[in-house]
Parts: sequence; C-alpha cells; structure tokens
Amino acid sequence: MTTSGVTPQTAPGPAPGAGANGAATRLETIRPHLPREFVARLVEDVVVGSNAGTTPIHAPVTGEVIVELPQSAPGDVRLAFQKARAAQPAWAARPVGERAAVLRRLHDLLFDNEPHLLNLVQIETGKARLHAYEELAGAAAALRHYAAAAPGYLKTRRRAGILPGLTKVSEVRHPKGVVGLITPWNYPLALVVMDIAPALVAGNAVVHKPDNATTLTALYLRQFAVRAGLPQDAWQIVTGEGPVTGPAVVDHADYVAFTGSTRTGRQVAQQAAGRLIGCSLELGGKNSMIVFDDADLEKAVQGALRGCFSSAGQLCVSFERIYVHYSLHDQFLERFVTETKALRLGGGLDYGADVGSLASTRQLESVTLHVEDARAKGAKVLAGGRRRPDVGSLFYEPTILSGVTAAMNVYAQETFGPVVSVFGFKNEAEVLEAANDTVYGLNAAVWTRDAKRAREAALRLHSGMVNVNEAYGAAFGSVAAAIGGMGDSGLGRRNGAEGIHRYTELQTIARQTVLPLAPWFGESPERYTKQLTFSLRLLKRLGLK
Ligand code: NAD
Repeated sequence: MTTSGVTPQTAPGPAPGAGANGAATRLETIRPHLPREFVARLVEDVVVGSNAGTTPIHAPVTGEVIVELPQSAPGDVRLAFQKARAAQPAWAARPVGERAAVLRRLHDLLFDNEPHLLNLVQIETGKARLHAYEELAGAAAALRHYAAAAPGYLKTRRRAGILPGLTKVSEVRHPKGVVGLITPWNYPLALVVMDIAPALVAGNAVVHKPDNATTLTALYLRQFAVRAGLPQDAWQIVTGEGPVTGPAVVDHADYVAFTGSTRTGRQVAQQAAGRLIGCSLELGGKNSMIVFDDADLEKAVQGALRGCFSSAGQLCVSFERIYVHYSLHDQFLERFVTETKALRLGGGLDYGADVGSLASTRQLESVTLHVEDARAKGAKVLAGGRRRPDVGSLFYEPTILSGVTAAMNVYAQETFGPVVSVFGFKNEAEVLEAANDTVYGLNAAVWTRDAKRAREAALRLHSGMVNVNEAYGAAFGSVAAAIGGMGDSGLGRRNGAEGIHRYTELQTIARQTVLPLAPWFGESPERYTKQLTFSLRLLKRLGLK
C-alpha cells in the first residue's frame, strides 16, 4: 500500500460454470495480494508484550495462513487502557470541528484505497466483493454523517428552568472516557466504523477488540485513521480469544459497545452491570420477510436474494424466514428457487461472484447441522443444501427450505448462514403473529405496493428495524436513523443520535439568579408556599410550564 501491500488484481480463474450454482472466479492464493511485509507492519500496532503467543488466522477461501496473529494478554489490555486514558483528555479538548475533520479525511482515505481495502475484507471474511463494497459504503455513510452532525448532537442545550428566566439550565455532554469496543468477524469494516466514528468524534478514546479472524482489517482502518489525524494512542487494538480478552476489555472500560451473539451479549451485560457501566448490545436475529398479495413479485424476489444470501447469510439482519401470501406463494417460490440456483459462488477478488464463502469451519458445521436436522425431520430442500468443496473448502450453496416445522432447529434458532425457510400465509393477523413468534427482534421487511398497509404492519412488528420494499439496506444504510434490536436482539442503538449519545455522559448545570428557591425576604413558609402555588398555577394557565 503504498499504503498497502494488498494488490487490487484478481487471480485468473475458470469461466462461470453452467448449471445450478456455477462457480465464478477462483482465488488460488492470497499471497500476491497480501505481501508478508505489509502484514508484518500492520501487526506491529497490536498491543502485546514482548513474548506474546501467536495464533494462526486462515483465509476462508484458500485455507492459507494469513498471519500468525500476536495475542494480547490481560496485562496488555490494561496497558492499552492506560495509553488510551492518557491520550483521551487532549483529544477531547480539541474543538469538535477538528475531530469531525478527522472523520472526513478518513472517509476520503478509505475510498482512495478502495481496492486494497476490499481485497483485505474479502481475504479475511471470504465474502463476495459486492458485499465487501456494501461495507465500505456503510462505513463511508457513517463517517459523513457523524462528521456533519456531531457538532449538533454534542452541542450544549439550554433547558427551561424551574423559575422561568431566573433559573438558567443547560445540559452538557461529556465523553465517557475510554470506550471498550468488541466487534465480530462478519462485518469487520462497516460495523467497526459505525461504532468507532461516533465514539471518537464525541471525544472518547477507544480500546478495540476485533475478532481474531478479522483483526487485519481493523488494523488497516486504524492506520488510515492515524493518517487522517487521529492521535496514535486514541485507538488501541488488542487481540485474543473472546472469553479471555473480551472480559479484560469490559473490566477497564468506561462504556462497552458490543456486537456479537446473544449468548456472549448476556455475559457482557452481566459484567458491565457489576461495574455499573453502560453498554450497547447488538446481537442476533431470526429476521422475517413478508410478501403481501399486492407486492411487486419480481422486486420481492430480488430483495429476498439480497436479504438471504448477502455475505453468505452471515449478516445479523439477513432473512431466515420468508412468509408469502398464498395468492403469490407458488409463483414467488418458483422464481426465487430459479434465481437462487443461478447465483454464482466464488472467492475471486473481483465482482464475478454473487455469493462468497462461509467464514469458518465452525460456521460450515453449524449451517450443515441446521439443514441436515431439517431434512431429517421432513423439510424439503428446494435449492442448495450442499457443501461445495469444489469451489472452496468452506462454501455452502444458497439454500431454500419448505415444510419447516417448530420441531426443527432451523425454525427458531439463528442459523447465521445462507439458509431460508419459506412459508405461505392467509391473512395479515396470522402472518404478523408468526413473524413476531421469536425471542429476537432485529430486522423485518414488508413487501407491498400500499404504503399505509406497510406502515400499519411495521408498527405491529416487534423489530428494531422494518424495511419496506427493501431487504435491509434502506434502514441499515440510512445512518441518520438509529438501528438495533428489540428482545434478545439487543440493548441500545447504533447510528443516529442514540448512536453517539450512548458514548456521552450528560451533565445538567443549573444557575439560580435573583430569587432563591426558598422563602423570599424573610417570608413565613405559609405565605411562601401560597405564593408559589399561585405562581405555578398561573404558569400552567399561561402554558409556560
Ligand atoms: P461472538 O459473541 O462469539 O463474538 C463476538 C465478539 O465477542 C468477538 O470479538 C469475540 O471474540 C468476543 N467475545 C467472545 N466471548 C466473549 C466474552 N465472554 N466477553 C467479551 N467478548 C467476547 O459472536 P460471533 O459468533 O462471532 O458473531 C456472530 C453473531 O453476532 C451472530 O449472532 C450475529 O447475529 C451477531 N451480530 C449482530 C449484529 C448486530 O448488529 N445486531 C451484527 C453482526 C453480528
């Protein structure tokens, strides 16, 4: 790189194959695209002691070792917090406009280095290039939004005082201090930027624990942030196995922003509660797409393809259940199955593939188990349902199931892979009840030509996000609006005002002038309270309080 050693070229590969799920371009080896010196320079920024152990990180598509990643020990996490804490006051003392300018420069640097960045995201996650690009677009939107809107979000606000005109009240927002940021492997670019940009622009420093699998993307982003003007120590990166390094981060943080599974989220919440610090939790989902009888069928099919198979279904907001009105059900299913079988699988560092690899052996195993369990209990596999070792050891075909029942694991549990169950429905009451029959509440989509009908259905869905005539991008990419989960899908919100206010401590400063809030000029309490009651009633009548 130049800024990167990640070259933008693509390894040559066979032409798209014929038949169901033909393979697109292959990635034979990551090496020409990821020089060892570049990787070595990146890992220098991990906070580790001199004799840290390492763990090998494998590229999902080729199986090669990307890096022997140094592993931070709990003592290193403490050191990272010390450094971040030392850097934070000077960063917070800079005018908010200066901090916002760092986000603006970071935005431009990401696009200047787009091919390198997308290569690295693809190499670490195995996802298709279009899905890596979606991450970049989401990250850029968050940077632009918070660069422009942070001064407004953080502004000191005047509030009405108890005695109008005489009690001067303002609410001031202070940064929390040092935020602990814990991120998963599935969206290593978008989710990191969406969470770190507001934390930094609010004047916090951050100690960040990415998943081991996608640490290089985090390190690369950090390098760009430093080039954009962020003080070196304001963003610390620590590594390690989640159950070891994660709790160490929570132990020292002033606030924790966590994204990951519901199971881990509960542990983080318990630990944060024990320390009386706040946390936001962006967790799992079992998201539904609903196709009403007046929907545009073709658009709904295209939306289902995006919503089910982006990032090979390893997307917190992806659909694992589709409900189609019986009047459209057969037609929808026929089109959806045909289009799903035509999706090209591939790992090339270009736009040739529609669906990439799963990210890990653990993912491949859990997806396979869900499909096999459903098949054994009588579900029909209408598309996919197979591993594709001919494309790469962790590839799995986009899969459509029908005849799924509550006895199958895939019915209620999050699969977090390219597997969707399709159901028919008769009426709205029935479908809304079915869609809400889950412990989760992250994303839902409604397809209809009737805006009023969509809104009424949305209001009845127990879901932090509802997209209308779109899969997830409308809500996920509209970063001025907060997103997050209800129920077991989480606590708190990212993006929008909530996405930055969570990183601030609100302080009220109230200045009393002229009259004290006590009997005036030696009055008796009786006379004082009478007068006060009269004044309060008057204020109410005048509509002032
Ligand atoms: P995970 O909970 O196993 O890991 C997430 C992060 O937490 C990783 O960095 C991991 O190292 C760390 N971690 C693990 N144990 C920890 C502990 N005890 N304390 C603190 N940190 C710990 O999740 P995963 O399986 O890697 O990610 C997939 C899950 O994340 C899915 O359930 C998915 O729906 C969810 N997710 C949610 C969102 C969202 O915005 N709601 C976004 C992406 C992923």
